[in-house]
Amino acid sequence: MRPSETLDGELCVGGIPLTRLAERVGQTPFYAYDRHLLAARVASVRAGLPHGIGLHYAVKANPWPALVGFMRPLVDGLDVASSGELAVALDAGVDPMHVSFAGPGKREAEIAQAVAAGVLVNLESFREVELLARASERLGLPARVAVRVNPDFDLRGAGMRMGGGAKPFGVDAEVVPLVLRAIGDAGLRFEGFHLYPGSQNLHGASIAQALRQSHELVVRLAEGASSPVKQINLGGGWGIPYFPGEQALDLAPVAEALAEIQGSMASEWPACRLVLELGRYLVGEAGVYVARVLDRKVSRGQVFLVTDGGMHHHLAASGNFGQVIRRNYPVAVGNRMDLTEREKVSIVGPLCTPLDVLADRVELPPAYPGDLVVVFQSGAYGASASPQAFLGHPRCAEVLV
Ligand SMILES: *Cc1c(COP(=O)(O)O)cnc(C)c1O
Repeated sequence: MRPSETLDGELCVGGIPLTRLAERVGQTPFYAYDRHLLAARVASVRAGLPHGIGLHYAVKANPWPALVGFMRPLVDGLDVASSGELAVALDAGVDPMHVSFAGPGKREAEIAQAVAAGVLVNLESFREVELLARASERLGLPARVAVRVNPDFDLRGAGMRMGGGAKPFGVDAEVVPLVLRAIGDAGLRFEGFHLYPGSQNLHGASIAQALRQSHELVVRLAEGASSPVKQINLGGGWGIPYFPGEQALDLAPVAEALAEIQGSMASEWPACRLVLELGRYLVGEAGVYVARVLDRKVSRGQVFLVTDGGMHHHLAASGNFGQVIRRNYPVAVGNRMDLTEREKVSIVGPLCTPLDVLADRVELPPAYPGDLVVVFQSGAYGASASPQAFLGHPRCAEVLV
């Protein structure tokens, strides 16, 4: 599900050959996101899951406004994690009823913005109960809240764990009854629970297990709630394959777990919505990062392609965004797709630091200055997750095609 069509030896994104696309963008480096692939991914998730699951897009994965605007009508809601993301979501025209706002350190002003906007706040501490009560009273508006729970189990298989054990995220499950009481006392409008166990999980069975455990936990916790549960958000964190040997996620066990949960919810809480929030899985494969080769250097026998792009635009591909051992993202020479000849090269950026590596000793067709290097699987955690100011090089462009 990544761009793969070629024309006259050139990779096409959104049907446009890469050199022409680069001219259209007017600069390299750039990220290009394929609309058709974005829509196809949402459609395949919907087709693979039981009917009636709310599918939210987690804006953190790629908050570029044009992309969020494209995703908005395709999904059932947006999840944000800052007032900046909230603004992007609202500008995209989302119904605030279907926005939730998570994050461990919400500022007082952000909380007031969320209440004024009418979105659901996933609250993560006693402090947030107080701030919400204050904002609600001051604005004369109800504060819609869900409790983000730090579960008492671990998610196995996630690349980045964000639940279980000691975490800054959410409220420890054993403390939730007290938070629910505080919510009731403060007169906030309790709507449900949120759990997010972790990111980049490629194991359908472990996601399914986490879903079942999350559901059981939520059923247990709901006994202490002051009003009926209207929505449970059981997170996402579904992974995409980046590295050799990684397999695409098998949705079958996930779908099976969701159908079971829906079945028991139908009798427990017939009016409750079951929501998932997916970021990377929806947008990651639809995007590529494109940089131009500026120089070709041979140092003691090793070939280096020096490009105009690098870690300042694509921190994740450089291996510095949550990887323990650096591995290469899939790469190609986008205007030489039909060559069969191979040489071993390293692709580096222009930054004066050894961290600025896009690909380390990969087999590629011989490439020269002017050629276009492509990094696949780049639709999520790209431009917005990179230190663009580092070393003062120009920013990258982004396009939807
Ligand atoms: C990061 C995050 C997401 C998105 O995670 P992906 O792995 O991109 O799907 C969703 N929800 C919360 C609360 C997050 O922190």
